[in-house]
Amino acid sequence: MKKEFYKSVSFKLGVLSFIILASLFTSSFMFNSQIDKLKKQIDYIYFGNYIPVLKLHTIEENYSDLIKCMRTYKKCEREPYFKSIKKDWDYYNNSYKDIEEKKVVNKIDIEVKASLNNKAKISTYTSVIKKIDFLKEYEKNIAYKKRVKFLKEYSSMKDYLFYNMIALIAVSFLFISFIIYSIIKKDNQLKILTKKYAIESITDSMTKLYNRKYFDKIFDNMPFISNQNSWHTAFIMIDIDFFKQYNDTYGHDMGDETLKAVASELKAYFNKDYEYVFRLGGEEFGVILFDIDEDILKECLSDINKNVQSLNIEHKNSKISNVVTISIGAVIYKPYSYVSCNKLYKVADECLYKSKENGRNQFTIYNEGE
Ligand code: GH3
Ligand code: MG
Ligand code: MG
Repeated sequence: MKKEFYKSVSFKLGVLSFIILASLFTSSFMFNSQIDKLKKQIDYIYFGNYIPVLKLHTIEENYSDLIKCMRTYKKCEREPYFKSIKKDWDYYNNSYKDIEEKKVVNKIDIEVKASLNNKAKISTYTSVIKKIDFLKEYEKNIAYKKRVKFLKEYSSMKDYLFYNMIALIAVSFLFISFIIYSIIKKDNQLKILTKKYAIESITDSMTKLYNRKYFDKIFDNMPFISNQNSWHTAFIMIDIDFFKQYNDTYGHDMGDETLKAVASELKAYFNKDYEYVFRLGGEEFGVILFDIDEDILKECLSDINKNVQSLNIEHKNSKISNVVTISIGAVIYKPYSYVSCNKLYKVADECLYKSKENGRNQFTIYNEGE
């Protein structure tokens, strides 16, 4: 039973859906951690806004040094200062800026360029230093505002992705559940159909007993099963007495009804596990009783003789009774006796013949000593 469950479609689908859900959870977790990494990187880039501030600081220092030089030496060599100020300013001026920033920087750019002139006065440089001070503050403010804006956008994007992921998982879960449900339903329907056809293929349509085909299967395996379990097993042959006369007297349809009634009686009597009743053909039945001893078998055969007679089905042209009766022949297979099935069948048939000869409505069990 357990083994069957592990092989079943529902178990396989359960494992599959578990894998799908686990991979969805894992990917959402990984996605989340990637976003965090991205955030750190972008944050780092925004910190890069402090690089222009550093450049402005260097420019400012160069201007201060230039002023110091001019104050110390009458003929101060300005070109080296101009060169490094120009280089740093160009770097700052060309780095990315939005429209608002550009407007502010362009105005100061004119003043910086004008200051890079040997005729410029110290007061010009002092004024430019003030402007650059202002720019430093301005850049810091902008970097701060941009970072705040970015963090806000980042957290709303993360929320959005999180809820999207939850929705995706929920939809996948519902979808998988629906597929599993429909497959299990189909699987069950198939099992029921298979069972139904399996039963139909081994059942005699008229009497509802097991058919000859199934008898051959069980009978062939009977010695093997008996050996395996160390069981004594009985094979019984049953035949309705003077059935030809019955048909002739009451008609074929009534004959069929009587066949069904006898079959039902046999089925009702041998109704336990390991008891099998078959219609062998015509008005002949077979019974296989696993795990039985001779005394019980005798009781059973005596019972069914009486029970069929007690059905009280009128048979006025029977030569031995005024109701329907049966004759029985039986043989017991002993474990590890290795008697062939053909031989068993023949022996049971001979016993049945003996019952007929001895006056019908009786049973004969094969006795090895005879
Ligand atoms: P005995 O006591 O020696 O067994 O005599 P009998 O008349 O029963 O034996 P016999 O073999 O001569 O006849 C069997 C009869 O069973 C012949 C046949 O018409 C009848 N029979 C076989 N199958 C069916 C069936 O499915 N329905 C009906 N109504 N009769 C059947
Ligand atoms: Mg017969
Ligand atoms: Mg007969």
